[in-house]
Amino acid sequence: MKLSKTLIAAGLLAVSSSIAVSAFAQAAWPSKPVTLVVPFAAGGPTDLVGRAIAGSITKATGFPVVVENKAGAGGTVGTAYAKNAKPDGYTFLIHHIGMSTAPALYRKLSFNPLTDFEYVSQVVDVPMIVVARKDFPPKDMKELIAYVKENKATINLGNAGIGAASHLCGMMLQKALNADLTTVPFGGTGPAMNALLGGQIDLMCDQSTNTMGQIKGNAIKAYAVTTAKRIKALPTTPTLAESGLKDFEVVVWHGVYAPKGTPAAITEKFNGMIKNALKDPDVVKGFTELGTEAVPASKLTPAGLETWLKTEIDKYGPVIRAAAQFAD
Ligand code: ASP
Repeated sequence: MKLSKTLIAAGLLAVSSSIAVSAFAQAAWPSKPVTLVVPFAAGGPTDLVGRAIAGSITKATGFPVVVENKAGAGGTVGTAYAKNAKPDGYTFLIHHIGMSTAPALYRKLSFNPLTDFEYVSQVVDVPMIVVARKDFPPKDMKELIAYVKENKATINLGNAGIGAASHLCGMMLQKALNADLTTVPFGGTGPAMNALLGGQIDLMCDQSTNTMGQIKGNAIKAYAVTTAKRIKALPTTPTLAESGLKDFEVVVWHGVYAPKGTPAAITEKFNGMIKNALKDPDVVKGFTELGTEAVPASKLTPAGLETWLKTEIDKYGPVIRAAAQFAD
């Protein structure tokens, strides 16, 4: 009896001290650099958004948030890598709309977006722009539509691999133009942009965060934006609908995730840091110049991201199946 009382007391002591230890561990977070996995190559739009957020958090808190690029297979390699990381609050993932399109595009996916992650926050909405190398013959979207009909066998369309936003937009563009083009995959649209600038590929549809600077510098051509309305940062570029391609609207959204099991106290703290980063005047200015839209406060929450992800999975499944013959 005495022994069992002692065991119970010891057990209670152990439980209460483990609560104290885990509370202390969480209170002390972060105590070493935090990794933010970007599932695409450096220099592209997801990398740009990830680095802006990471840089702002580092500046504000003094704790380094370090970007790690894990490119491959349209973002799925880096996403699986983040899924398998220790759920200790030192690894997060920033991804984009690909988190919702990958399930319809891959027969076998090594992660489940709805069960393998904790949700942290949405970050920002980004329009896409149909762009071409500077000396590509068509002058505007109308000419591009006609040119593609005549020259489809020779046109190279760059993307960041199956599951990437550029892949989704490229599929929808090919479906709308009823043209099966030659697609050229890269580890991200950072390197794809270099190929476009170098004339190794002809066309691409990519986020404004990667294309705006090159468009404004007259280094590439812009044909149309993929949003319902023209964007403020590029007021003379028409929408695809204005150019005659209806039912084709894509807005890329970025979200931050953590491996399943990461303590809620930590994901909530990181959520607060992201919200502050999105108010950082340098981040706001940079993002606005690149044509992004702030997301409403309701989406800057773990629940907001989870709900939005489910909505997008339901939306893009049928769109992808309809465009499946243009899948690569
Ligand atoms: N914009 C790319 C995509 O097509 C990915 C990237 O490099 O951020 O998904």
